[in-house]
Order: sequence, then C-alpha cells, then structure tokens
Amino acid sequence: MLLLIKNVKLYAPDDMGTNDILICNEKIVNVGKKLQIRYEDLRVLDGEGMFAVPGFIDQHVHVTGGGGEGSFRTRVPELKLSDCVKAGVTTVLGLLGTDGLTRSVENLVAKTKALNEEGITAYCLTGSYGYPPITLTGNLKKDVAFIQEVLGVKVAISDHRSSHMTKEEFTRVASDVRVASLMSGKPGLIVCHLGNGKRGLGPIFDVLDDTELPIWHFRPTHAQKVREDAIAFGKRGGYVDYTAGARGTGTAKSVVGAIEAGIPAHLITVSTDSNSSQPRWNEKNEMVGITAAEHGHPSCNPQSPGFRGGNAPFKGPRVHHQQRSLGAWSGIEEGRLETGLRRGHFAFGRETEPPYGAFQRPSDDARG
Ligand SMILES: [Zn+2]
Repeated sequence: MLLLIKNVKLYAPDDMGTNDILICNEKIVNVGKKLQIRYEDLRVLDGEGMFAVPGFIDQHVHVTGGGGEGSFRTRVPELKLSDCVKAGVTTVLGLLGTDGLTRSVENLVAKTKALNEEGITAYCLTGSYGYPPITLTGNLKKDVAFIQEVLGVKVAISDHRSSHMTKEEFTRVASDVRVASLMSGKPGLIVCHLGNGKRGLGPIFDVLDDTELPIWHFRPTHAQKVREDAIAFGKRGGYVDYTAGARGTGTAKSVVGAIEAGIPAHLITVSTDSNSSQPRWNEKNEMVGITAAEHGHPSCNPQSPGFRGGNAPFKGPRVHHQQRSLGAWSGIEEGRLETGLRRGHFAFGRETEPPYGAFQRPSDDARG
C-alpha cells in the first residue's frame, strides 16, 4: 500500500514546516516538499490544515481502569483504543493503582496484548500500590523476565493508600526488578506512585543511598507533588515524570521550573494517568470527592480545545522529551518521522498546529 499525505504541517518532533509524507506498507519512506509519485494504486490524502506528529508515548495509563477508592461504583472503566488514538497516543504503558484486589495482572496483560493486536504499541507493569506486589506468575522476577509485555513493577510510596513498604522491602523489590531486567534485556522500570505523604521521595533516596542500584530504574510519577525532591532526584540523574492536567498543580509550571532548576530536559517526562480515579482528600485523608480521568477528556487529550488559549510556556509539541527517554529505555527506534516509523506510529489530525506542549492544558497555568 502506498499512501501520500500532501501538504501537512509536520513536527518530527521539531517544526519541519509543510511537507508531503510518503508511506509504504505502514512505514514512512520519504518526507519532502511537493513529492512527485507515479504509481497506479497510490492513495492520496489531502493534509491541508492538518498536522502530523510522532505518536505520543504515554507511560502511565490505567488501561484496565483504575479507581475504586470510593467503593465499587467508583471503579473506572477500561481504556478504549479509540480514546488513545484520538489523543494521538500510539504507545502506552499500562499499570494498576490502588486496586490490586478486584484488578489483576492477568487482566492487565490480556488488555495489553489486545491493544497490541489492535495496532498500537502497549507494555505494562506488574504489581500495584500494595506490597508484596501482586503478580501473574506468583513471582516478581519471573513476571518481568518471562512476560514479554511486562517492563517492570508499579509501587506506591508516601501515600496513605500504599502498603508502607519498609526500606528493606523496597530494596528487595527494586533488586528483583534490576536482576530480572538484566536477564531479559528489559529496562526494569520501578514506577513509583507518589502520594501527598510527608516523606516525599525519601524512600527512593534511602534505597539509592544504601545500595548500588542505578537511579534510572526508579521512575517517580506525579512529581509535581514533591517539587524540591523531584529537582534533587533529577539532578542526580533520575527520570522525573509529571502528570498532565492534575488539579491545580500547574504541570507546565512544574516542568519549566524543573528545567530552570537544572534537570536536563531529556530526563523529564509527562504522562496522563488516564482512566484513573481522581479522588480528593481532606487533611484527615477522608475522601471528599472523586472523578475519573479519560484519555478523551480535555485534561488528557493534547489535541482537545481545552489545550488552546492562555499563556502556555511551550511553543509547539514538546513530545520529544518523553519520546527520547522512552526510546532510550525501550530500545525502540521511534518518534522520528524522518527515520520511518512502525505501524500506527504517527498521529494525524485535522487541527491547526498544537500551540501547547503534549498533555498540557492552559488552565493549569492559570491555576498553577
Ligand atoms: Zn495512576
């Protein structure tokens, strides 16, 4: 199949201006101005007024649905492929959250396989907020080593919903992921959900200070909750993940602040936490409200009108930080349109150029 997309505004991810893109059998084979192609079965798509960007990578998605903290009726539904694609996301990392009781790693792995069958790239993590981590094989190391989709483990720190792992328990989990990742050639991610607890990133620093485990295994997420700790962590060479659209936390300000504080931009990622619950807690940790985050929701959709207007600090889609760091650990060459992409790895939408950073909405700045 030969497809020519004409006159599309192209970010690769840098602004390359208006270009034609030639796709052969789902791979980009040529990019240029006014490409002349002679081929009988050539399919031509008019890209006027549209933009093409490398598919977004979202490394924090509750693909099987999260939530449940407000009883069973607050379990969030699972991700639909269409929500993902509409948001321009072509690679997801699925994970579990608070609920390791009614949700299972088996179901998560199955959903991850389904998303891959449907044409996007999907990975997942074993474990949840709890300790010991729930697994598919009954063994953390075996999950990471032998289940193709599993890239590491999810844990929770500094959160009243966590199992409050001791330093020894956390060290053992991290060590198991480290060894299993070495055996299987995987990145060995330890995605650490951060709550509002007073210890912040302290539990990670404790493990780092007491062991020789490389810092890049640890991926703290919701980093805007621990501004100073996150900056210290990034300066030590760790990846720091900020959550888009979190209420009143000013994702853009956090990211800009982190860069200005000296964290190298390639260590900063942004993810959506899509299909999670968004519970609100009072100072006594009593729940005072709960909503759900969806990929199609303005807070999670980089192409939605909710991302326009206001004074966002970014110009153009700043997706490359996320892609570069994910590309580094997944070993997958993607995110560069001019080098050719795997199937489905480009996003194409009838919009004007996106003026905001990926997963950023202007209202965050206003509230920040
Ligand atoms: Zn989450």
